[in-house]
Amino acid sequence: MDLLREQEQKSRANDYVHEVYELVKKRNPGEKEFLQATREIFDSLRPVFLKHPEFMHNGILERITEPDRVISFRVAWEDDTGKVQVNRGFRVQFNNSIGPYKGGIRFHPTVNSSIMKFLAFEQTFKNALTGMPIGGGKGGSDFDPKGKSEREIMRFTQSFITELSKYIGADMDVPAGDIGVGKREIGFMFGQYNRLKGGFEAGVFTGKDPNHGGSLGRKEATGYGCVYFVEEMLKGKGDSFAGKKVIVSGSGNVATYAMEKAIELGATVLACSDSSGYIYDPEGINVETVKKLKEFDNKRIQEYTKFHKHAVYYEGCNNIWSVACDIALPCATQNELEETDAALLTANGVKAVGEGANMPCTEEAVHAFQANGVLFAPGKAANAGGVAVSAMEMSQNSMRLSWTVEEVDEKLKVVMKNIYRSCFDAAEDYGYPGNFVVGANIAGFLKVADAMVAHGIH
Ligand code: GLU
Repeated sequence: MDLLREQEQKSRANDYVHEVYELVKKRNPGEKEFLQATREIFDSLRPVFLKHPEFMHNGILERITEPDRVISFRVAWEDDTGKVQVNRGFRVQFNNSIGPYKGGIRFHPTVNSSIMKFLAFEQTFKNALTGMPIGGGKGGSDFDPKGKSEREIMRFTQSFITELSKYIGADMDVPAGDIGVGKREIGFMFGQYNRLKGGFEAGVFTGKDPNHGGSLGRKEATGYGCVYFVEEMLKGKGDSFAGKKVIVSGSGNVATYAMEKAIELGATVLACSDSSGYIYDPEGINVETVKKLKEFDNKRIQEYTKFHKHAVYYEGCNNIWSVACDIALPCATQNELEETDAALLTANGVKAVGEGANMPCTEEAVHAFQANGVLFAPGKAANAGGVAVSAMEMSQNSMRLSWTVEEVDEKLKVVMKNIYRSCFDAAEDYGYPGNFVVGANIAGFLKVADAMVAHGIH
């Protein structure tokens, strides 16, 4: 291609990306998180349209940023005092070009349309990266499970699923857990769904209890997968987790099992947090204590210091990033790690960052890490292990078989290695070697965009 033509095509691709972004901005006013996630993907995709003008011709960017449908509904329920409460429920079915909609359900007071759309949009690319046949979706409610009794949670969940049951199904849309939703809530949803439909549709939810149709290894998969991905990234530089100091934000499902795997690979985890504050344990966090407090007893992380006298509790979870470490794994929630935190981590010598949560680092923080040569693994690649094992749960449900935990873990390792490889290769092929953000966005996009072209314009 001569230089002039190349310049011309480059500016056409740039104009296209710019124009569609303006359109998305106009159509989704004030949706901060959704626009942030869109912007991040768009920034990576410019070189793709240069190589693949057919995607412009087919309006892929316009179509891929508009969800197939957004379902929003009232969830009324009665609390323990007999008072009627109303919450808002959502399900965003973003894209089903490569499989049924798939993605978690989040119960958290911050849930709104922007957050649901950003999560469903990201999920579309994440799910494509797993190499499994699953489309992208997400759901949730602004219901706050904190301080609610188990019966209240059950009544709320039953009301939520009574409405949502009209839109989901094993070959249509398969929800799972996310923040505030674990196997207990999935159990309530599954029970209510089957009651309404009058059958036993095993594959309609994933993240079920392994004793009633769930997959072994699902609970551990997101955290373990994140560590497997970062281990691959370190290996690429001749390094590993062994002997490293690690900090992990959060103390929920993802954080707990990321800590467990990092320790198993020879690292010391110095700190973890919850939404109130963080604990620093110079002798290394004891994961069994964290599990006891958070997974089983539903307590605050502050109580860790009761069991480990040398550990210190600090108010304010964001200050966790001031702890010096080699590897940081943000595993709590979106935008929890800002530019100033990235600067602090970098000044303290961080070598690698892996996102266990969805979009925990702000755009500025990501740029700061990359500008300083810190290895950076974006969530849609690094935390894809959870949904990958969900897809394995769907397979097991279809076959009416259960794999052993070893089989699942072996498959998870292969998936994470493949995701690493696809991100690495796409980054190289498109001229951004070592940039896993660009690599993940391009590799995920190509898979979905190809299917969209193949299936015609709709
Ligand atoms: N909520 C998880 C995620 O963000 C898991 C989704 C699933 O297993 O469907 O990927």
